[in-house]
Amino acid sequence: MDKKNFIAIAIDGPSASGKSTVAKLLASKLNFLYVDTGAMYRAYTLAVLNASLDPKNEEESNSLINKIEISFNDENHITLNGKDVSKEIRENNVANNVSYIASYKNIRLFLVSLQQKIANNKNIVMDGRDVGTYVLKDAEVKIFLNADVEERAKRRFNENKEKNIKSSYEDCLENIKKRDYIDSHRDFCPLRKADDAILIDSTNLTIEEVVFKMEEIIKSKGYSL
Ligand code: C5P
Repeated sequence: MDKKNFIAIAIDGPSASGKSTVAKLLASKLNFLYVDTGAMYRAYTLAVLNASLDPKNEEESNSLINKIEISFNDENHITLNGKDVSKEIRENNVANNVSYIASYKNIRLFLVSLQQKIANNKNIVMDGRDVGTYVLKDAEVKIFLNADVEERAKRRFNENKEKNIKSSYEDCLENIKKRDYIDSHRDFCPLRKADDAILIDSTNLTIEEVVFKMEEIIKSKGYSL
């Protein structure tokens, strides 16, 4: 890479659009740090559930701000108060509550500030819902990844099966539709494509094809890979 000291690549999109898979691959190809911001909202949600607080109650949920430690370990696994929770955060109880947590402004401000600290002075690929519009507004490359909702539910169902997480296709479809709605209708930092982001529809694309398209976008911005 040339042109500037550090490059930030922001990848946003709805649930199960394939962001994490392609972002991870892209980061490893470019030798950039990869940050999954969704995992951070999930870890916060897990902390709320573990403390027997109600994720639908904003005030109760806010009570953990600055009291819990969310970070990534050497293997780039998400940790909550030092414990690797990368498997637990994928469970249905977290998936069903995370969008409430992510709609609370003070929790977002807490996690966004962590995300900005992690990204500071680094080559980074960061994925989420508001990376291009808010967290890294000045990112050099912004991509919005989408896919039809049925295709996304199918992918999530297969992913859960691989990870031995019990779910049905119908559960996945319902959960994704619900999260899409909450994520795109919240007041603060809703899910939306940044004006300067480039849209990729991955419905009929393989993972490799999406990564290839992303590399083409990066090159089209003048960065040599
Ligand atoms: O990406 P993932 O599906 O794991 O994200 C879990 C949830 O976290 C999303 O449904 C969304 O509610 C929230 N999220 C968010 N902003 C981000 C990343 C995730 O609101 N930057």
